[in-house]
Amino acid sequence: MLVADRLGETATFARHDIALLQTLAGHLAVALRSAWLLDRQLHDARHDALTGLPDLVGLSELAAPLLTTGVPPAVLVLTLDRAAEVNAVLGHRSGDEMLQLVARRLELALPGALVGRLGGEEFAAALAPRDGVPALQDALAAAARVEHVLDAPVQLSSASVSTTARLGVALAEPGDDLGDALRRADTARTSSDGTGAVVYTTSMDEGRAERVELLSDLRRALDTDQLMLHYQPKLDLAFGLVTGVEALVRWDHPRLGRLSPDRFVPLAESTGLVEPFTHHLLGVALRQLRAWQDGGVDVSVAVNLSARNVANPALPDLVAAALAQAGVPATRLTLELTESTVMGDHARAVPVLERLAAIGVTLSLDDFGTGYSSLSYLQRLPVRELKIDRSFVRGLEATASAEDSAVAAALIRSTTALKDALGLRIVAEGVEDADVLERVRELGCDVVQGYHVARPAAADQLDTSTTRLLTAGDAAAR
Ligand code: C2E
Ligand code: CA
Repeated sequence: MLVADRLGETATFARHDIALLQTLAGHLAVALRSAWLLDRQLHDARHDALTGLPDLVGLSELAAPLLTTGVPPAVLVLTLDRAAEVNAVLGHRSGDEMLQLVARRLELALPGALVGRLGGEEFAAALAPRDGVPALQDALAAAARVEHVLDAPVQLSSASVSTTARLGVALAEPGDDLGDALRRADTARTSSDGTGAVVYTTSMDEGRAERVELLSDLRRALDTDQLMLHYQPKLDLAFGLVTGVEALVRWDHPRLGRLSPDRFVPLAESTGLVEPFTHHLLGVALRQLRAWQDGGVDVSVAVNLSARNVANPALPDLVAAALAQAGVPATRLTLELTESTVMGDHARAVPVLERLAAIGVTLSLDDFGTGYSSLSYLQRLPVRELKIDRSFVRGLEATASAEDSAVAAALIRSTTALKDALGLRIVAEGVEDADVLERVRELGCDVVQGYHVARPAAADQLDTSTTRLLTAGDAAAR
């Protein structure tokens, strides 16, 4: 002020004016820098550092004005499939790069929308209502644009990866905060099969209530022995004998009757209940194994694991204790895991798998062919068995198209070609007839499992005339 007031009276600055100006400029710079820092801190507190998009807090603040105006906005939630697999196979840097590129594509696909990252591979957008366009119609068009931009492979520095997303859409309701609307969109997302956005309906929350009830029934089922295991033989083609069985859970629900695992395993997997669930079934399977051994039947038993089991560092000790309690050798236990089980939390899973292998348990990779795993990647895992997914084996059936049949044969042949080098045993799953059995034998598979050999059945239904038997030497050694 002082300097400015004097500007009209004098053409030059005296020495002390310059000093004053410098001091003022200094203060101004400090003030600007603190304001910038404060701004930056406020920005950082509300934005995701990786993609620069607002996080949930930031998005909620930005969307607040939309929620208080006349027409509530539509919101969209999306999760990327397979981001975890990209992390595991190509490394975290590639995973991060993919998220950054996807964030840019989302911004391009949704001009004018508020786009944010909720965490992990989960993104969200709030769409401001547009005059004359019904909010739902607008949201579905936006979702279609998102799917379209995600259709093209994402070019990372190390590789090109394709990604798909699951999308859920919901309309905000009067009085909602953004979190309420996002929760509904997320409920809708969980019913998406990846082939199009799903719009939230209130019946989905009823479905949720049903699931909560089934979950508490399942908790009770563990204590009251409603869960049982069926066993499906694995036929070793070189021996012509059943050398193993896979344990598959069944639930005799008091009100709903016999439930198949697809109805309740994913439910258990979505909570910590899967831990006691798996340990309960492991105990049942090992006691059955002991009973077979006592009867002279020499089969190994395969138990299915879930991602949470494999991420638990205590798993090897729990398995060792269960083996000791049942009095059966670790070499007779196989643990089956899917690619996504291993990929989910790769860094934690690998040491657990290594310790399991070290105690003598066989690890088997289920559903092989459906995910990203390359054989060279598998080489780094202590896996000894690969189960070719049923969807490929089905390609060998007489009714399959020429294309499916060529793909199936190529996948199986390229896998079995490397089995000796990688020390792997190859199992064909879902073999339903004799012709397919012959085809997989020709293609180099070692073991077959499927309805043609036997359907899963209770332990006392196992045809022991087809199984390997303990030799006198084995019996003496025990
Ligand atoms: P999975 O591990 O891939 O198990 C094989 C499934 O294929 C079983 O279904 C079996 O009955 C079925 N199957 C076997 N042979 C054939 C065939 O020739 N044709 C056809 N169409 N299907 C065949 P199930 O018993 O309904 O189990 C479904 C899934 O549930 C299993 O798939 C597994 O992922 C999960 N599951 C089953 N038991 C357990 C368990 O104890 N723990 C965990 N974590 N998951 C389990
Ligand atoms: Ca399995």
